[in-house]
Amino acid sequence: MALSLKVPIDQAALPQSDHQVEIMGRNDAFSFWKLPEQWRAALESTIGPSEAAAERLLFEQYLPEIDRRPPSAMRAYYRVKRLIPQGLRHRLNSVAIRARRRLEFPSWPCESALVEFWRTWVRQSLEVFGAQDGWHIGFWPDGAKCSIVLTHDVESRKGFDRMESVAEIEERHGFRSAWNLPLAQYPIDWQRVEQLRLRGFEFGAHGLSHDGRLFRSHRDFAELAPILERLAAEHGLRGFRAPSTLRDLRAIATMAFDFDSSFADTDPYEPQPGGTCSLFPFHLSRLVELPYTLPQDHTLIHLLRRSPLPVWTMKAKWIASLGGMILTLTHPDYCGDGVYLKAYEELLKHLAEIETAWRALPSEVAGWWKQRAQLWLQVENGRPSITGLGAARATALRLSEQPLAN
Ligand SMILES: [Zn+2]
Repeated sequence: MALSLKVPIDQAALPQSDHQVEIMGRNDAFSFWKLPEQWRAALESTIGPSEAAAERLLFEQYLPEIDRRPPSAMRAYYRVKRLIPQGLRHRLNSVAIRARRRLEFPSWPCESALVEFWRTWVRQSLEVFGAQDGWHIGFWPDGAKCSIVLTHDVESRKGFDRMESVAEIEERHGFRSAWNLPLAQYPIDWQRVEQLRLRGFEFGAHGLSHDGRLFRSHRDFAELAPILERLAAEHGLRGFRAPSTLRDLRAIATMAFDFDSSFADTDPYEPQPGGTCSLFPFHLSRLVELPYTLPQDHTLIHLLRRSPLPVWTMKAKWIASLGGMILTLTHPDYCGDGVYLKAYEELLKHLAEIETAWRALPSEVAGWWKQRAQLWLQVENGRPSITGLGAARATALRLSEQPLAN
């Protein structure tokens, strides 16, 4: 069976697939779909190649090696960043981003390369059995058709002070969210964190500070990561997002967190552009990666100077139609009052209308994705059954009912 991945880039320029990262859950197509175990043997020859093909996107291996780490030009930027007032900084960044040559791939705001790959693989698998339809384990628990995850990075004291008012709006529309805090950037009032936790919100680590150091070199990482991990453990923070999403997959894979959210499905506008093309969680060593899939508020408002709501609602609708994960990344610093808070509330109203969605915290999605990886689907006499820890929350679905497969 030929597996092709239609990616509009020069294949010869791609680095070879990289399996040095220790993997606990698998990212191959069989594990993604969770097809009946009795189908595995017949599909075995396509499973390994499907993982290499998927991880070329998931791990951004389509980018040259040097572009999969923070750009060296960022060092000079961080040396002077503190000296430039925020308004001017946004204007300068906006000009620089617009002048930058756009990556041809992934496209923005929607990139369907991985969607098409998963779909092609499963349809070819049905052909192997001469079957019109088949069963798989649904992507989300309790019969949900897609998922909604709200996250925030809290960049400053000002943002921290706006958390409660944003939280109130989220509660009003039936949501809870996760807040990622830079642990050494401004004084954190942990009592207020605790208050929000009691209301069902969650907190994660947004590095130590936005100084571009964490993944700048092996030496920086070796010095800073243990400090970050110790602080995070002290405060019960299980999730991580890299400051400015300046990321290094290999380093993140070694960090003492349960899940990471430093990657986008597609984001050509970040200082380290790229994207995993994934509208679903995936496995990154022993962590679960939760890519953010709606454009950041900061990108739309400050860099592109666009009204965020139309792009957000269009993309949320697209993701929901494919049964994927709508994962927002907003900042109370930029989106925590005035017209932008109104736009965010409009987005929440829109999301609240997706009745079949699982509204979940990042830790819940990460926990579920690990659990789903350990479930087994068996089909006997045409009847599916799922076994394994957490099987009661899982649903066997017909592929014909799964929009991603069709
Ligand atoms: Zn940040």
